[in-house]
Amino acid sequence: MKKWENNIRRTVPYVPGEQPKEENIIKLNTNENPYPPVRGALSAHLRLEFEKMRLYPDPEARELVEALEKYYGLGGGQVVVGTGSDDILSLCFLTFFNSDRPILFPDVTYSFYPVWAQVYRIPYECPPLDENFCIRPEDYMRENGGIVIANPNAPTSLGMKRSEIEEIVRANPDVVVIVDEAYVDFGGETALPLLEKYDNLLIVRTYSKSRSLAGMRIGFAMGNRELIQFLRDVQASINSYSLTREAIRVGAVVLEDEETFQKNRSAVMDTREWSRGELEKRGFQVMDSQTNFLFAKHGSVPGQKLFEELKRKGIYVRHFDSERIRDYLRITVGTGEQMEQLIRALDELLI
Ligand code: PMP
Repeated sequence: MKKWENNIRRTVPYVPGEQPKEENIIKLNTNENPYPPVRGALSAHLRLEFEKMRLYPDPEARELVEALEKYYGLGGGQVVVGTGSDDILSLCFLTFFNSDRPILFPDVTYSFYPVWAQVYRIPYECPPLDENFCIRPEDYMRENGGIVIANPNAPTSLGMKRSEIEEIVRANPDVVVIVDEAYVDFGGETALPLLEKYDNLLIVRTYSKSRSLAGMRIGFAMGNRELIQFLRDVQASINSYSLTREAIRVGAVVLEDEETFQKNRSAVMDTREWSRGELEKRGFQVMDSQTNFLFAKHGSVPGQKLFEELKRKGIYVRHFDSERIRDYLRITVGTGEQMEQLIRALDELLI
């Protein structure tokens, strides 16, 4: 071993779902939206002046920040934007979780949380979900250095009521509670109305799911001015320009086309319910999803086997080889046609 290796910040990275190189894959493994971004996005993108690319973007991304504040009815200084919500969440861990007490998040949740905790040397504990995979608010009422809850949770797809989130926020006035609402637009109950009442609450959102812009990398946080300013200070201490010119423009413009946004998310939710029924007819137990994916376990065929056989047929879903959820598949809701193909493939596999 080289001596310099003693000084390395070693870490076991998060593993994202596979991005296949082959064409014609039915890609239901990373919770992307099957529909294109709203109409205005492409023309806004094309109208960007190439000549301006020699100039740095606005470090405060004001065009986008102000558009988001207006859209969500917030005041000035209540939004900060970053390169996807992963960037914002990572910044939250670094900014708010700076004590010796363990932060808390569920044992089954977004698998990036323990990775950030490890890379930033933040102690953490993971209260187990109950036997129905639900979060118990009372587990978050003990001494801690901060809390992160994905609502709806991933990969379980289950949402919590706003009143349950409120119980957790109210019981923890001395730490920051982060609610990751990556999937909330597909039927979850947002904690937004609680922002007025609680100054220790921060809500994190993304453009990657309901706004069909995973490739543009836009995420944001909403909270009171003080919390947002702390995030901005740390962000500006790492990278002054956190979004590209195109992300700032496209992110602001797509908020204007509410109609297409509503149409796309309804289509995903309708297809989700159809797919759930079809999976249940074929012996799957499927969680009651409030997201754009289904978390499902077959009565007799192991998750790993289904995952591999579907992959062989060109259909990619996600399988997590960890103790409590090994039997499950996480299936992103695609177009109606893609889901029909999934069901046909399962019919061939399950005979
Ligand atoms: N939170 C949760 C719960 C997620 O599942 C994801 C998607 N992997 C993210 C945050 C991050 O999404 P993005 O960085 O694309 O905004």
